[in-house]
Amino acid sequence: MKTYCIIGDPIDHSLSPAMHNAAFRILNLDCIYIAMRVRSNELEASIKSIKSANIAGFNVTMPHKVAVMKHLDELDESCMLANAVNTVAINDKLKGYNTDIQGFIKPIKDKGIVLRDKDVLLLGAGGAARAAIVALSNEHINKLIIANRRIDKAKALIEDLSSSIDVSFDTKFVELDAAKDYAYNAHLIINATPLGMNNEPSIISSEYINADSIVYDMVYRPMNTPLIEEAIIANAKVIYGYEMLLEQGAKAFEIWLGIEAPRDAMKMALLGGFG
Ligand code: NAP
Repeated sequence: MKTYCIIGDPIDHSLSPAMHNAAFRILNLDCIYIAMRVRSNELEASIKSIKSANIAGFNVTMPHKVAVMKHLDELDESCMLANAVNTVAINDKLKGYNTDIQGFIKPIKDKGIVLRDKDVLLLGAGGAARAAIVALSNEHINKLIIANRRIDKAKALIEDLSSSIDVSFDTKFVELDAAKDYAYNAHLIINATPLGMNNEPSIISSEYINADSIVYDMVYRPMNTPLIEEAIIANAKVIYGYEMLLEQGAKAFEIWLGIEAPRDAMKMALLGGFG
């Protein structure tokens, strides 16, 4: 039997075990996926234990996505771009990958959405926003408006990324509170902040959302965040956070096992997790 796991803190509410175990079951694979709570001061020791316990691969979630990098033997290019690791494959060596970049863009592509020459409004400037910007840099967008609590952090993010990706699109930086003023003309609105996880009211209400726009909320729990609810009222197209979660998990599965992930079974398990 092969064992896979996810490390993070907190980890109790992770949906990854249900999603991956559903994939193993449907394909009759002799594999199991477990969640392990690892505190920050235990990270190095935990990685040594994972190696000696013969674990075949693992996912990494908050707060270890950056800190884990220095404990790995190799890093795929995706980790350098994202400056974070969310998937590790173990074959003699520990190799890190970041599947959030592909996980973010796949639901957009699957819906046939074309972003060329479009304006994008991105809320947030943390790790998830970074993965989104890396993915968007290949889409020939016209303009990226980043709304963040700390504008200096958003500027620093673009500055840092400009050495590794093409950021030739226009950029604008605004306070998070001003995001609604840029929403109506944005073809794609992305929430890459945790706002919505605790049912905080949406900072963009339906009257600021164009029916022709797409609203993508990376928050996956609850499934219908306040922002998604406002987008539905506005008749806009929505992309749910679970769609990204599913795709980043499917990519991790494919890295570990080298076979196509059973996305339908994984999706059913995820949706079941929402109750
Ligand atoms: P992060 O690196 O900690 O960045 C958080 C960002 O949100 C920062 O820009 C921060 O602003 C902002 N922020 C945090 N708390 C805020 C608040 N109370 N009010 C306003 N802004 C706030 O986190 P992350 O890794 O980017 O994750 C962001 C969200 O995306 C999380 O909810 C995470 O669960 C979700 N996510 C989902 C997926 C998926 O597969 N669906 C994948 C990755 C992440 P400052 O810069 O001003 O601090």
